[in-house]
Amino acid sequence: MLRVEEITVRYGALTAVSDVDIEVADGEVVALLGPSGCGKSTLLRAVAGLERPAAGVVRWDGVDLGRTPVHRRGFGLVFQDGQLFPHRDVAGNVAFGLRMRGVAKGERVARVGELLEMVGLAGYGARRVTELSGGEQQRVALARALAPRPRLLLLDEPLSALDRALRENLALDLSRVLRSAGTTALLVTHDHDEAFTLADRVAVMRGGRISQVGRPDEVWRRP
Ligand code: ADP
Ligand code: ADP
Repeated sequence: MLRVEEITVRYGALTAVSDVDIEVADGEVVALLGPSGCGKSTLLRAVAGLERPAAGVVRWDGVDLGRTPVHRRGFGLVFQDGQLFPHRDVAGNVAFGLRMRGVAKGERVARVGELLEMVGLAGYGARRVTELSGGEQQRVALARALAPRPRLLLLDEPLSALDRALRENLALDLSRVLRSAGTTALLVTHDHDEAFTLADRVAVMRGGRISQVGRPDEVWRRP
């Protein structure tokens, strides 16, 4: 499991994340929800190892990741715009992490087929990613991140580049994919509906701190 303990992240004089604790249990999906600028992305980046915290510890199964660089944390990353490799086809994008890990070709092909099926893109392997719609590109980015079976998936506004209708559809699909893969995930969003569709628990952030944590229906109940 992931344990974030008393993490503080500063940019010069600005404290972007202030003394935050949060846990994500195995197989759990947790959403960081809150307005723009409240520190969600900074917290996610600190978990990923892309920011160095001024204080606090990020642990996986009790192990302090303070000296573990991004590519050794075993986490999968999906960001706002999927940042696919434009010169590779869909299968080449999804297989990228597997090739880097030296997975043999036969196994790679099988795994890519399985992943494309999972994200609803069966038969798209040879398509150029530049010819896909925004929603399809986001599915490819998701398949690519899931390919090496990451122990934790970190998603930063994965659907925000898409229009509203597409986003709702894709949120449901993403929810199904995360459940069927049993993925442990920490997700950043400013969209309530998205958080509630996807998350087992929601952590509401304000001004760099977590103000509330609970199941979506607990957090959202208005007084
Ligand atoms: P959110 O993801 O909730 O929109 P961010 O984590 O991106 O919020 O930003 C939190 C605060 O930190 C904001 O005030 C933002 O302007 C600031 N910030 C984010 N990234 C940087 C950076 N690289 N350098 C300086 N300030 C930053
Ligand atoms: P280097 O300077 O060689 O990149 P660092 O020791 O600065 O190595 O950090 C290694 C990785 O771990 C970086 O990705 C960094 O952001 C992250 N990191 C450093 N200190 C901590 C910490 N206390 N908690 C969590 N992550 C950290």
